[in-house]
Amino acid sequence: MSKHHLIIAGGGIGGLTAALALARTGHRVTVLEQAAALAEVGAGIQLSPNASRVLVDLGLRDALDVHAITPRDIVVHSSRSGGEVARTPVGRSVEARYGAPFWVIHRADLLAVLAAAVAAEPKIELILDARFRDASPAPEAITVHATIAGEPRDLKADGLVGADGVRSRVRTKLRAGPPARYTGRTAYRATVPIDRVPEAFRDVTAMWLSPRAHLVHYPLRAGREFNLVAVVEDDWQSDGWSVPASRAEFATHFGLTGRSRWPEAARRLLDLPETWTKWALCGFEADFDWTSGAVTLLGDAAHATLPFAAQGGGMAIEDAAVLARVLDAANDVPAAFRAYETARKPRTRAIVEQAVSNGRLYHLPHALAVFRDVALKWGVGGQLLDRMDWIYRWRVDRPE
Ligand SMILES: Cc1cc2nc3c(=O)[nH]c(=O)nc-3n(C[C@H](O)[C@H](O)[C@H](O)COP(=O)(O)OP(=O)(O)OC[C@H]3O[C@@H](n4cnc5c(N)ncnc54)[C@H](O)[C@@H]3O)c2cc1C
Repeated sequence: MSKHHLIIAGGGIGGLTAALALARTGHRVTVLEQAAALAEVGAGIQLSPNASRVLVDLGLRDALDVHAITPRDIVVHSSRSGGEVARTPVGRSVEARYGAPFWVIHRADLLAVLAAAVAAEPKIELILDARFRDASPAPEAITVHATIAGEPRDLKADGLVGADGVRSRVRTKLRAGPPARYTGRTAYRATVPIDRVPEAFRDVTAMWLSPRAHLVHYPLRAGREFNLVAVVEDDWQSDGWSVPASRAEFATHFGLTGRSRWPEAARRLLDLPETWTKWALCGFEADFDWTSGAVTLLGDAAHATLPFAAQGGGMAIEDAAVLARVLDAANDVPAAFRAYETARKPRTRAIVEQAVSNGRLYHLPHALAVFRDVALKWGVGGQLLDRMDWIYRWRVDRPE
């Protein structure tokens, strides 16, 4: 199979994983990242076995094991009933069932591990302070127009992969794809030292479901820190990835100051951080082609999702593995990109839909939440994992 030179616009989780996967199959890769330094704000990310398996296959297990934690259980609480409605063991049982771990990890640690592997890979050139502007596709080669350290530069390659996130310029400029739009939901995020957290919550991933809002928390950084993500329905809009939010503002949203129906244990957790950062969640219409000739999209640029199935990063990582696989089997970049889109679209669309459906279930008004809570309670522990089984069991060599 002939080997190619690919340019990837965007050095996030998706772009760096794709660069590694492509380099490991013999292709040369240039990654253009607009940031001057690779730094992930944000806090934690959950990586289920479908995604962790790809990272393990790339040889990153030991490096990630240093930072990642496998939670003991996944626990669901309902603000309607005031307490726990379901608990599923994760610990060793997920790895036994799927052959790959369920990890929670700080994004900065994940990105640092990916960046170190990229730096050690001679076939990858990562250029920072390099912004993709446009490209001129031609039959023989594509010319990418970038701004590198403030200077315009043209780079030639056999193909361009837009891994430039939900507001992708590759999508809107080259694929005439839809612009990002706000979803009417804001995510508030914070981390606190774990010793401020009650013992019972230190080694589990837990959710608290409430009308029009929910809270997710889990341990991070080999158990030294505790990550909180609280999502609320509102119409705040901002392009910022991480806008500071005061405790007072947060308290108003989550009713911490007045009479609130959040259970006392959840209120105490929500009250822990001194400051939060907030992020207006975006998405876009799914109905467009990712690929045209030697240009395609990957990760959030192709299929941004609400984070309610915890799969946005996972899908980007899966995309990377599939792209490397199809490109390895084809001589022709456009044909490989088309095959990649055909392979990925149905699954990513179904996961995005599951996230929307999870969001509806999480935020049900109390009158309806009673049915959800009863179903969760009597579905016996296995039900939660069973709902995610079709997502978790994916492997690049056996997608279904
Ligand atoms: C609150 C919240 C919780 C989440 N939790 C989870 C979870 O638990 N599990 C999970 O799997 N996913 C989760 N996600 C989703 C996950 O964060 C994203 O899906 C993932 O980061 C997408 O990776 P990406 O590489 O496609 O895009 P991004 O991470 O957005 O990276 C895009 C990169 O492209 C760069 N870029 C942009 N424009 C240009 C340009 N013109 N030129 C050059 N570079 C450019 C950016 O600087 C950035 O580095 C969550 C998301 C949110 C909001």
